[in-house]
Amino acid sequence: MEGLLFVLSGPSGVGKNTVLKEVLAKRTDLTYSISATTRPPRGQEIDGVNYYFLSEEQFLVERRNNGFLEWAEIYGHYYGTPRKQVLALLQKGQHVILDVDIQGAAQIRENYANAVLIFLYPPSIAELTRRLQGRNTEDEEAIKKRLAYIETELAAVTLYDYVVVNDHLEEACRRVEAIINAEEVKVTRGYWKRLLNP
Ligand code: ADP
Ligand code: 5GP
Repeated sequence: MEGLLFVLSGPSGVGKNTVLKEVLAKRTDLTYSISATTRPPRGQEIDGVNYYFLSEEQFLVERRNNGFLEWAEIYGHYYGTPRKQVLALLQKGQHVILDVDIQGAAQIRENYANAVLIFLYPPSIAELTRRLQGRNTEDEEAIKKRLAYIETELAAVTLYDYVVVNDHLEEACRRVEAIINAEEVKVTRGYWKRLLNP
């Protein structure tokens, strides 16, 4: 039986990576899909762990070869989800979670009707700004670009199946886990049949 495809979106700095780390540590049947990007690594980021860091030329070749499940241009750089690795994992029965922006989520919604879209929402814009600045990984210019985009991103919440406010971290993680658990026991997914005695 195929695994489930999850999408986690939310404005930069809302806590997607932090939440994902906690949730992924608890579920061995859930894999994070490492994206490709043309933006340079920041902070402690490692190629092949946080992102596959590609040159623009490499990215465009990959895009031409239909190598991305979805892709978008964000803050002047390209980002994309490698198609092969995600489909292979799903086929093996592994659940996969993507951290993609609102453009990427719209493409997934259109092409994968069964995907589950989760939006991580900030408790307030002031708190989001504090987190983004406190992370200390972008320069002023990069932070400005991200802040200018917040309203547009928040308005896209209507596209999603679930919204989780990331106020208290543990509570937010519990909610994301609850969504995954609930999606797994939907009658139409058929996972429950695995639990029946032969
Ligand atoms: P994103 O992946 O969405 O860009 P990060 O996971 O890098 O965001 O989080 C941005 C900053 O906010 C980090 O410094 C992180 O420690 C902090 N953070 C994340 N979740 C919370 C929370 N619930 N409360 C307070 N700070 C948080
Ligand atoms: P950052 O540069 O802060 O890591 O990410 C910036 C934005 O790119 C975030 O909104 C993040 O969700 C999005 N993003 C990361 N990887 C992908 C991807 O593969 N596809 C799309 N569409 N967006 C991505």
